[in-house]
Amino acid sequence: MTVSFLSLKDITDKYSKEIHGAVTRVIDSGWYLQGEENKLFETNYSQYIGTQYTIGVANGLDALIWILRAYIELGVISPDDEVIVPANTYIASILAITENRLVPILVEPDINTYQIDDAKIEAAITKRTKAIMIVHLYGRCAYTEKIGQLCKQYNLKLIEDNAQSHGCLYNGQKTGSLGDAAGHSFYPGKNLGALGDGGAVTTDDKELADTIRSLANYGSSKKYVFKYQGSNSRLDEIQAAVLTVKLKYLDEDNKLRKEVARKYIEGIRNSNVILPNVFDYNNNVFHIFPIRVKKRTELQNYLTENGLQTIIHYPIPPHRQECYKEWNNLSFPITEQIHDEELSLPMSPVLIDDQIHYTIDVINKWNN
Ligand SMILES: *Cc1c(COP(=O)(O)O)cnc(C)c1O
Repeated sequence: MTVSFLSLKDITDKYSKEIHGAVTRVIDSGWYLQGEENKLFETNYSQYIGTQYTIGVANGLDALIWILRAYIELGVISPDDEVIVPANTYIASILAITENRLVPILVEPDINTYQIDDAKIEAAITKRTKAIMIVHLYGRCAYTEKIGQLCKQYNLKLIEDNAQSHGCLYNGQKTGSLGDAAGHSFYPGKNLGALGDGGAVTTDDKELADTIRSLANYGSSKKYVFKYQGSNSRLDEIQAAVLTVKLKYLDEDNKLRKEVARKYIEGIRNSNVILPNVFDYNNNVFHIFPIRVKKRTELQNYLTENGLQTIIHYPIPPHRQECYKEWNNLSFPITEQIHDEELSLPMSPVLIDDQIHYTIDVINKWNN
């Protein structure tokens, strides 16, 4: 048997008829940007996430870039100010900060959750700190009461990178509505994925929303009048229409992901494998299913030989990348350990029981 890590074709096929219908509708309408499909998706997404505003943009990285850039335009943040961010995040969170000539301050994650360690945040706060960017990494909620309290105490903006966790909950509230603003990615492999690039910002702050809408549309305040030196970062009407279809099924699909995770957690019994520590299935939408193992290369090779496709999230931490040479000598032991040991098992709403049981079986037979 072979089990692919993620079959985008199977995921699209599940809603094929409706997706084709939506795309055809846009093609036939003759209106391809900034139209009714964006409006409809933005309304539905705001309602889903629980915020006043959604602004569709070109991709998730841009969503994060525009949030910070809007705070700069509004005078809330200034160049050279600092933004706290988890050291083990995907590079995009950090790129959004440096793209704005702000300074990322990397903070270690908690080894039990892989999320930013809230006990280590306060020591990283300086006079220049203006925001904390939490990243709900791997689909798991990173927000804690303590983070909210620190933001209040030090007057910091709380920005959420919600690229991997659409539909995740914290005390009944969706991630993406917990802070001042959130960036979302609709990259095809994400829990809510488009058929190409897409992204959004959600916020309750009208001034911020207006600024972002303008920045992403050449900095225009009204047609041919330019308030900011903006850029072109819009969500296509076709992608918005596809997302409207897929949003309807997001909770159902996340539920299927949780069932896969539950089966893995109940079924995998191998003392060399560390499973994710799940305290509450509401707080996790399992964008991926991360395990940890000392002999990762050996396990990955063994799984490949048995037809199981796995991926490492991620092989090299941001502070060890060539693009951030200035950090290469810094030490983040927990981040490095996660990057050395993490391996992601096949995870998606279209995995079938035979594939799940086969995966469990193969892992349980691995003795190393
Ligand atoms: C995917 C991702 C992004 C960027 O989203 P794109 O749509 O690919 O630009 C940002 N942050 C995290 C954590 C991501 O996983």
